[in-house]
Amino acid sequence: MAAQLRPPQRDEMTVHFAPTDRGAGADLTRFPWLRKLLKSRTFQFAFILPNQIIFWIVIVAGLLGANVPTRNFATVITWYIWFCAVFLLMVGIGRGWCLMCPFGGFAEWVQRLTFSSRRFTSVTLGKRWPEKLSRYGLLPSVGVFIVLTYFEEFFNIAGPGVPKYTSFLVLGVISLALLFFLVFERRTFCRYICPLSALIGTVGATGMVAGFRTKDRNVCLSCQTKDCMRGSENGYPCPWYEWPGSASSNLACGLCSECFKSCPNDNIGLFVQPPLTSVIAPRARRYDIALGVLLLFGLVLFQQVNALPVYGTIDNWLNSVMHFPGYPNPIDYLAIIALFAAAFSGAMWAIGRAFAKDGRTRNFKTWLKPLAYAMIPLVAADFLARQLPRFFDHMLRIVPSISNPFAWNWNVFGTAGSLLYGVHLLTQNGVVAAQLAVIAIGGLGSLYSLHRITRLDLSSLTNRPVLMEIASIALMVLTTLGTGWLYVAMAGAQ
Ligand code: SF4
Ligand code: SF4
Ligand code: SF4
Repeated sequence: MAAQLRPPQRDEMTVHFAPTDRGAGADLTRFPWLRKLLKSRTFQFAFILPNQIIFWIVIVAGLLGANVPTRNFATVITWYIWFCAVFLLMVGIGRGWCLMCPFGGFAEWVQRLTFSSRRFTSVTLGKRWPEKLSRYGLLPSVGVFIVLTYFEEFFNIAGPGVPKYTSFLVLGVISLALLFFLVFERRTFCRYICPLSALIGTVGATGMVAGFRTKDRNVCLSCQTKDCMRGSENGYPCPWYEWPGSASSNLACGLCSECFKSCPNDNIGLFVQPPLTSVIAPRARRYDIALGVLLLFGLVLFQQVNALPVYGTIDNWLNSVMHFPGYPNPIDYLAIIALFAAAFSGAMWAIGRAFAKDGRTRNFKTWLKPLAYAMIPLVAADFLARQLPRFFDHMLRIVPSISNPFAWNWNVFGTAGSLLYGVHLLTQNGVVAAQLAVIAIGGLGSLYSLHRITRLDLSSLTNRPVLMEIASIALMVLTTLGTGWLYVAMAGAQ
């Protein structure tokens, strides 16, 4: 079962030298202490290990701990804290979570049969992800996330509901990851399938870490070894199939630092950038990302609409007609997500039709891609705002649950009976105000991105750039106001 890691193919290498960079910022590897840290083979291991320990405690606590979800360590840390923290990480750092993720981390340990050292054989069948499927980019990840969220809603896992369901969910994701790591080479799972990958990749575009990139592409052009992609005795070939010289966004750099360890020419840096650069700067915008953004937006909007009374009426009616056991009916779940995504695509198509200067520039994708990218900050804000009620209402429940994670009458930190259990950090009105503030920031981020993207990508496609920008701004403002209104309506419906 041991298989050699496959070196990159020639066509993979040539396409990467497109002039794509419009925004890599400052190189952090100028700091000697950071260089030393990144060169260390235990760099990623040190980030993964603490999360790995918590992750297995979560599984055991969910299965064996208190049956009351608000007192169970697994449900409390996963749904009141982790889910919110992951969104903050995405918005701030991009794929910062992927650096320390226990899902990919665990499966990669098994695949490489080591925690951190460089080995030249791996336990995998070494299959390549089919070319036909790779054309869909991150859309399978979007699909898996939508399916997983359906099960989460159906079983009320994040409610939080029965704690063992949280363990089953986590075990399900790790099993899927392990299966993919054992069948496919490198991090095929992360690149295409992981339910969080599309979300992190898109929302993370707002983040300030540009990822590992080449310092000077001319050095790469004359480089004979291409160790960053082929690997060397110092580092693995890029597990994410990225070429650091071609990255125009932080979309697919898992921050593992293997290329930094491998490059014999010291031509890799870790770059930071102003927020939103990876939204605004990419030249080669991806259709799968644009569609993924709109579908993910549809998903989070579904999770807002489902709190309104009108949704309950429709869902109950559909369930009775179909004899379906309970909320949410899969038809209305998928239909609402698709309707939102179709409505946004339709509006972007209409802008293209109205303002394109000729038939050549009227192409649907030409307009959809930049306009959907401009929506990323608002989508990021909406996912974050959606997590705030659980965080502000219940995050302090971690204080008692951490002392007695398995309901074995422990009191590890002396906080098992803490009165903080019932303390809310904000009132209901305070939470709604915080949500509206987050949506406003996201909306402003989208408007700023739109303004920059219009100048970079759209103004050359039209003879009426001012009117086109006004129409695009109107779309963004209406979407922001509608998203904010949904939070007010959700609070009113409670
Ligand atoms: S893509 Fe998914 S499995 Fe891979 S590191 Fe990121 S969150 Fe973890
Ligand atoms: S090994 Fe270094 S110099 Fe060679 S292609 Fe990769 S980043 Fe460029
Ligand atoms: S090898 Fe380099 S480019 Fe590839 S994921 Fe790791 S840090 Fe990013």
